[in-house]
Amino acid sequence: QASLAALTDWLRRFAAAVARDERHLTDLDAKIGDADHGSNLRRGTAAVVEALDADPPGDVGAAFKQAGMTLVKTVGGASGPLYGTFMLRFGTTAGAVDALDATALGTALRAGYDGVVARGKAEPGDKTMVDVLEPCLTVFDEAVAGGAGAAAAARAAADAAPERRDATAPLLARKGRASYLGERSVGHVDPGSASTTLLLESLADALA
Ligand code: ADP
Ligand code: MG
Ligand code: MG
Repeated sequence: QASLAALTDWLRRFAAAVARDERHLTDLDAKIGDADHGSNLRRGTAAVVEALDADPPGDVGAAFKQAGMTLVKTVGGASGPLYGTFMLRFGTTAGAVDALDATALGTALRAGYDGVVARGKAEPGDKTMVDVLEPCLTVFDEAVAGGAGAAAAARAAADAAPERRDATAPLLARKGRASYLGERSVGHVDPGSASTTLLLESLADALA
């Protein structure tokens, strides 16, 4: 079971991880983008935490709809609408409940992922956050199918993430700013894959 408290702790831990790694995320984006991924997400996730404090949500759906709208409002770059859509769809799918069991959490995560794909039109292999999200959510689903609870499934997904993040390096970018570089995008880790790894690690930590 993932409680409302644990799931809002996820958002707080993600904000803390982004703040910790802001420089690194921006350095990655400097190589194949416009050097703002760390600052974009730091601004957005700090605003999410501010909104949680100012207006504490009463259920899981409300928490993630608030987070999603805050990200869309405060992040200018591509990552704002993408992470924002992920959170909005997660919240809409979770609904007005005070906890999610492992299956419901998997369903909400998958809905978030589907929102990212609907918005960004990226496929696995395009060198985007989708390259971490898709395989790791499959790991999550397989763990749940094998009898794992929410915490163990989230840990399995998080453990799979760094390898997927690093596997974006040799790819040619086909979506987002990095795609403007063509062949020159090869050889660098995708910044969104790095932040999505933090998202999954934060979830596992929050549910542990
Ligand atoms: P911007 O590129 O507008 O400056 P950010 O630097 O904050 O925005 O975010 C860049 C990240 O967003 C990329 O590393 C990539 O993972 C992700 N991204 C960009 N476009 C897409 C897309 N169409 N689908 C999925 N993810 C995308
Ligand atoms: Mg950028
Ligand atoms: Mg930008």
